[in-house]
Amino acid sequence: MWKNFWVLFLQLASNFTYGLSISWPTATSPIAKDAPLGIDGCIQPTESGRLESGKFGFVRENGTRFHEGIDIKSFEKTENNVPADKIYAFMDGKVAYANRSPGASSYGSYVVVEHEHFLTLYAHLASVDVVVGQAVKAGEKIGILGTTSNCANIPNARAHVHFEIDFRIGDAHTFAKWYGENFGDKNAHGTFNGINLVGIDPIAAIEKWLKGTKPADFFVGEREAATIQIASTHVPSFVERYAPLVARGIDLTKPVKGWRIEFSWFGLPQKWTPLSAIDPKDPPLKLVSYRKSQKHNALLREVLREEETGIAIGPRLINTLKKMGFDVK
Ligand SMILES: [Zn+2]
Repeated sequence: MWKNFWVLFLQLASNFTYGLSISWPTATSPIAKDAPLGIDGCIQPTESGRLESGKFGFVRENGTRFHEGIDIKSFEKTENNVPADKIYAFMDGKVAYANRSPGASSYGSYVVVEHEHFLTLYAHLASVDVVVGQAVKAGEKIGILGTTSNCANIPNARAHVHFEIDFRIGDAHTFAKWYGENFGDKNAHGTFNGINLVGIDPIAAIEKWLKGTKPADFFVGEREAATIQIASTHVPSFVERYAPLVARGIDLTKPVKGWRIEFSWFGLPQKWTPLSAIDPKDPPLKLVSYRKSQKHNALLREVLREEETGIAIGPRLINTLKKMGFDVK
């Protein structure tokens, strides 16, 4: 277990040291000391064979299909060529969700682990070896890599663990309400349904940590694609849950009249500013600004939308607000 273990000690400005341990989700770790392979060597491309297709972003179908995580290659096989890699928890945390019905999700059998600042998700597993509520350490085994999915046909030759670093948008109440209004079927996965999670680029995140960036500083300086203003006294659980990342130094106990929210191009509400007053001439929801350099991807991801009158707020962003419990038309 310690072979796969990577420990980084950060000296903080406040002059105390704390340890931040991360573990690559398989034994073939590109971040371990003296690793023979870099991260690229551990990525499983799609049938296209293009390395980029296993990474995060609009990397599929000529840049039109989004991939919300990375596909980590299988290196270990049984005699019958069945994947056998053990899957390890990325950081210390607690198992938040485990789906053992491979036919019930495009993720197949999957595990979600809750960490101090975010969630990690491990999909297409052959077996799930943890239970909800169980505490896990970085590098602790949580399952076995597989090819399960209710839609993708993953051959053993392209077996991988689909890995995400995620944030949960809605809570049990607000997400269930949104889901009920939009889908007739039963939601089998609660708030850990993939459509209630927004993922960031795991490779970019790992590279930041390797350079010594604390998870809480992760979004500092990130480019926003769209800034919106919403008139509402609602304080979503999202902003409370992730306050150290998205609402730093803000007193969330004070009553609010609205919010200014900055979204990344892939739809993460990454910076929140409470407003104590709203101009009565303003509509309840408005696009304050967007960044031209992020426009292309933000339009593709439907964070923005092109209208005859110009650029407007896109349907993904509106649905994100609804999942968080905002009353948006
Ligand atoms: Zn994937």
